[in-house]
Amino acid sequence: MQRKLMLPLGLSLALALLGPLLLPDYQVTLVNYIGLYSIVALGLVLLTGIGGLTSFGQAAFVGIGAYSTAVLTTALGLSPWLGLLVGLGLTGLIALVLGMLTLRLSGHYLPLGTLAWGLSIFYLFGNLPHLGGYGGINNIPTVSLLGWELSDARDFNVLIWLVIAAVIWLISNLLDSREGRAIRALKYGTVMTEAMGVHSGRSKLVIFVVAALLAALSGWLYAHMQRFVNPTPFSINMGIEYLFMIVLGGAASLLGAIFGATLLTVLKQWLQDLLPQLFGQGGNFEMIFFGILIVLCMQYARAGLWPLISARLPKRAGGTPAPPDLDTPPLPRREALPEHAVLLRADGVVKRFGGLVANNNMNLQVNSGEITALIGPNGAGKSTLFNLLSGVLPPSAGEIHFRDQRIDQLSSRRINALGVSRTFQHVRLVPDMTVLENVSLGAHRRGHAGLLRTCLHLERGEEGALLAEAARQIERVGLGEHLLDEAGNLPLGKQRIVEIARALCADPYLLLLDEPAAGLRHLEKQALGALLRRLREEGMGVLLVEHDMDFVMDLADHVVVMEFGEKLASGLPHAIQENPAVMAAYLGGAE
Ligand code: ADP
Ligand code: MG
Repeated sequence: MQRKLMLPLGLSLALALLGPLLLPDYQVTLVNYIGLYSIVALGLVLLTGIGGLTSFGQAAFVGIGAYSTAVLTTALGLSPWLGLLVGLGLTGLIALVLGMLTLRLSGHYLPLGTLAWGLSIFYLFGNLPHLGGYGGINNIPTVSLLGWELSDARDFNVLIWLVIAAVIWLISNLLDSREGRAIRALKYGTVMTEAMGVHSGRSKLVIFVVAALLAALSGWLYAHMQRFVNPTPFSINMGIEYLFMIVLGGAASLLGAIFGATLLTVLKQWLQDLLPQLFGQGGNFEMIFFGILIVLCMQYARAGLWPLISARLPKRAGGTPAPPDLDTPPLPRREALPEHAVLLRADGVVKRFGGLVANNNMNLQVNSGEITALIGPNGAGKSTLFNLLSGVLPPSAGEIHFRDQRIDQLSSRRINALGVSRTFQHVRLVPDMTVLENVSLGAHRRGHAGLLRTCLHLERGEEGALLAEAARQIERVGLGEHLLDEAGNLPLGKQRIVEIARALCADPYLLLLDEPAAGLRHLEKQALGALLRRLREEGMGVLLVEHDMDFVMDLADHVVVMEFGEKLASGLPHAIQENPAVMAAYLGGAE
């Protein structure tokens, strides 16, 4: 078990087992509410804090979980467990459809979509004839679990906190996996992940659905604990309060969610008693207080309050994860290609950005077992061409073929799957993941475990193989000593090398490297040169953008020169070096 799991798991298990024994009635109920809110907040940590997707609509999913079981158990007399199944099924379905409609839209559309959804479902609860209107539904039956009748708050205390322990375990398993790394990379944008073969849209959908299911589970528990539901607890206000909980507690940590839920619930109780006395009249004064608290939190504790506290807790030794076992059998590789086969061909490729022609009639060929260098002054259009070749941008005209297949209309994910892997001129790593985790993103497509297996940690064999592959590639590029360092802490030159290891993890036929040697010291450049020669010997095709002429001329089999978006010259390195047009472009005619 991961060490960082011990505190949240220990806490929830302790509350489950000791809460009912030690706490007075009133506090048992309070702790139950904290638990119910925590379940929703844990989903929001996954969705918002870690995945970067904001939802105001979680209370509506809680409502669906609660109303489903309420209707089925009262009107139809069905078992609460059937109510749970239907509630989860319905919620999953709605979240899937809603997610597919809104998650592709960028910017504010998702929050706005969830806001609209949250509002409409609230009025639906109030107005649908069979849901009891705003008065709600009474007499919801109790739940019994293997002969244990959950008839009062103390019984629910046990169940709720056992559920929380399970949820924490499941979410931690998810985050500590291939899918989890894709999820943790989401908020840094999807250009890199898609180019590494990750289906980012799917990862977004996964966290949206999981967060919704957790909300529905909380709703089911609520309905059978209260034995009564009405629309009020599922209003958009509550949707906002759930967000407050994770913003206050700490949006990116599981314990932060529980802390935030506790803080908000306890403060609310206390302020609801205190503030009306202070002001001499009733009213929702506590919401004004929370508003101010959130603004202060945004100013002074962006990551929430829990990280401030946990930084002061004593650190346990031995918290670092073990490096992967390199004896794990290697992942299957692609079939080998004949040497000097044509890998990539660009014909008459054009890219316009509005009126600017960044690439004009570019032709280029890259063969296996050869290093082709793409050079040219800044702004010549080299990185743009890389984006076209790797599917990050579609060309405005022209054709690109990879092996026998036309790829200029394919997504970067599909192109990656064919065997094209790349690095970025402006490094795109996930700064708060280790080098090992970052590099294993490159092997994403080589794993297949589904969500359920991942959450239950049944994919450890595959996971071990993926991490071992990443570790081998890290050794291969010479960064073995940084395996478990946070990527964001490495110097920029080394971060570029991490990107090469990540690209190699895809077992590519063709490697596209955009300025890999920038920021490297002399010895590091030599090591990079030696690595690229080894890759060439192994039959890989390499297309390289680089400014260091000595480095390029020494290494490349073939050089293509660009200027103003067009091909100025191409040929063998020594011929390029003596080409007058190239010399003029490079030296500004100063020869
Ligand atoms: P290089 O990599 O050779 O330095 P780039 O391909 O980055 O050159 O840029 C070529 C030209 O295209 C530049 O004038 C740049 O400003 C422009 N450009 C690149 N990307 C975009 C974009 N997404 N939108 C608009 N203009 C762009
Ligand atoms: Mg560039």
